[in-house]
Amino acid sequence: MPIDDFEKVRVNARKAMALMEERGIRQTPHNYAIWYEYIQESNPDLTRAVNELISKHGKYTDKIGLDLYAQFFTREKEGRAVQETSRLVQKSMEEMLGNLNESSANYSSYGENLNSFAEKVEELSGAELQGIIDEIVSQTNSMSGNTISLQQGIDSASREIADLKRRLQFVQQEAHTDSLTGIPNRKSFDMELAKKVSEAQEKEANLCLIMADIDHFKDFNDTHGHTFGDQVIKLVASTLAKGIDGSAVAARYGGEEFSVILPNTELSEAVNIANDLRMAISAKKLIKRSTKKEVGKITMSLGVTAYANRENVMTFINRADQALYSAKKSGRNCVKHAEPALSR
Ligand code: GH3
Ligand code: MG
Ligand code: MG
Repeated sequence: MPIDDFEKVRVNARKAMALMEERGIRQTPHNYAIWYEYIQESNPDLTRAVNELISKHGKYTDKIGLDLYAQFFTREKEGRAVQETSRLVQKSMEEMLGNLNESSANYSSYGENLNSFAEKVEELSGAELQGIIDEIVSQTNSMSGNTISLQQGIDSASREIADLKRRLQFVQQEAHTDSLTGIPNRKSFDMELAKKVSEAQEKEANLCLIMADIDHFKDFNDTHGHTFGDQVIKLVASTLAKGIDGSAVAARYGGEEFSVILPNTELSEAVNIANDLRMAISAKKLIKRSTKKEVGKITMSLGVTAYANRENVMTFINRADQALYSAKKSGRNCVKHAEPALSR
């Protein structure tokens, strides 16, 4: 790991501690986790939530801390890893704090000694002076020894924190990925959509949603077996993921259903994207591994809608679902869209 990263963790850990101290926040593992993340500015939702809660309640209380922790840090599989991380981050921070306190105590006694030497110097003989200089040299040496061990302590604590953060990221990523297809799972979709909806509200930006469902998928399973069905799902997932650009998110919504979130996209543009995806999927050659023979085509029905400002997420999803339903009803392998009731 590059030195810069350690440095960043160290600086952020110190800033988090200083900020907590300054605001009189209790040094609990929960609070450490929250404020470390806050200082890091890596989670805008958390930053926003902290700022909103503080401005609403006037100050940060233990109750706010517990709520924030429950909201941002305890999610099933991640829960344990996060708890362990925050416990270890706390331990590392305490060690660092201990080192800093010890060294500042050492510095001040070193300073006092130097002062008293300076006062005495005038009344001393050559031999006494020599003795005192020896003493100063030895104290200075031991001071720089302390500084080195302090530095090492901080370095190893920083390394530990950086490692833990990386491990945590891995666990989080795993928990948000669909294991069959490798694309974001339903949970990730829910979180991502909530985030994009609140961004769209804030910036009054366009946001579209595609719900898509493989046509007659059951037939693949029934005719060629479940494993082949799985292969179809994987192929559809990778085609969707490849067919969208950087800001869009394609997720596996459930079984053979997928969804695509399209930020900053107008409805007409989203309909075009949905049609491109539909055609990319129907152009795929499906070959059964066991017989090496081509097996029909995959087609998909897609429903598209645009977000109407202030509406709730469920209403938004339901409308895309309605459009998908009408695509199924009008013969499948097509795209239907639904206009939001309140256009912006
Ligand atoms: P329609 O065109 O109306 O969407 O018909 P359909 O056959 O695609 O839809 P239906 O909902 O009747 O069937 C979906 C099937 O998908 C049922 C379920 O057993 C199967 N399925 C769900 N998840 C998986 C999976 O992960 N792997 C496999 N192989 N099959 C799955
Ligand atoms: Mg279905
Ligand atoms: Mg289906």
